[in-house]
Amino acid sequence: MTLAELQALERASVIPSYARLPVEFVRGAGTRLWDDEGNEYLDFLSGISVTNLGHCHPRVVEAVRDQTGRLMHASNLFYTEPAMRLAARLVDLSLGGKAYLCNSGAEANEAAIKLARKAKPAGDVVVVHGAFHGRTYGALSATPQESKQAPFAPLLPGFRVVAPEPEALAGAVDERTAAVLLEPIQGESGVNVLSDDCLRAARSACDAHGAALIFDEIQCGMGRTGTLWAYEQSAVRPDAITAAKALGGGLPIGALITGERLADVLSPGDHGSTFAGGPVIAAAALAALALTSDERLLEDVRERGLRLAAGLQRLPHVLRTRGRGLMLACELDISAPEVVRQALLEQRLVVNATGPTAVRLLPPLIVSAAEIDDALARLGTVLQAGAMERPRQAAGGPSG
Ligand SMILES: *Cc1c(COP(=O)(O)O)cnc(C)c1O
Repeated sequence: MTLAELQALERASVIPSYARLPVEFVRGAGTRLWDDEGNEYLDFLSGISVTNLGHCHPRVVEAVRDQTGRLMHASNLFYTEPAMRLAARLVDLSLGGKAYLCNSGAEANEAAIKLARKAKPAGDVVVVHGAFHGRTYGALSATPQESKQAPFAPLLPGFRVVAPEPEALAGAVDERTAAVLLEPIQGESGVNVLSDDCLRAARSACDAHGAALIFDEIQCGMGRTGTLWAYEQSAVRPDAITAAKALGGGLPIGALITGERLADVLSPGDHGSTFAGGPVIAAAALAALALTSDERLLEDVRERGLRLAAGLQRLPHVLRTRGRGLMLACELDISAPEVVRQALLEQRLVVNATGPTAVRLLPPLIVSAAEIDDALARLGTVLQAGAMERPRQAAGGPSG
């Protein structure tokens, strides 16, 4: 089908909850995507940090093919090997407690909120401005963005919002606090790195009041910042993390992983989902996790990240670059959505805007130095032309 035909179907039949750019992708391999006319694109977005190993990584494809031909679903009424092995691997590679598998990032945060509330009945959850934790009601209640929350009120009670600053976090936590839920690096609001002071303040406040410190590593985890989990580069160890996005190597999965203290809070019947930890998705995640936890890959991420950040900083119209590893954004003095559109349509470079002036780059972790330079050249061409209008004042906050 042509793009025009797809757009007609969308207009007629798809609930209009997404604003799509006018490109139809039909194939992907490694760092490349192809549209319906055979044009090749350099992907510096990775489907929003999902295809971190590149598109259709052969080891992930093989794991999926193999498991699909063997058993696709049995339900959590029974044992299947991939789910048990995946949980064990996730725990070994992080906090040493236990894991709960689910189907998405929002679901992982729902599980985290439920677990924290069960551990401290009726307790509050403290979140920070700029956070994004997902679109389901619990996760949305933890996502303090007016444009995303307002149409869907009333939200879940018991959420407190503070500035992502040490004093504010320390002041917000008391004996009624069940959890502090944070992204160590905020993704959807434009790649904002929370300071070590901030994370340390949250850690000590949680320790002082018996609250759970939960890091949402859905976007910044899975190798994105140059270590398997972002918390490894910070001064603190959380009590639990949530993961999703890149965890399935391109397929949908989420996980809540705890340290020992929270490992046995939930009991049979407390929580669950029909598809959670299904054999195909768990086999895909085992393959993705094995590839992503390779120290040579993670070292490459750190090195390529520095190269990309330095290159971005030299481009015209770039005011500031922020982020860590291959999770980067640059702040422009011109319209980011317009730059993103021109990069896609004229330079065949896939990136994304997280607001009126921020361009976010989330290249696959397997990206080469030459591809970084290529992307910088393509983006540079768009910015050089730079005659596009100044950004309009943000109407509805960051998109995501
Ligand atoms: C994407 C994202 C989510 C939501 O994940 P879904 O799979 O879209 O539900 C939650 N938290 C963060 C930090 C994210 O980037």
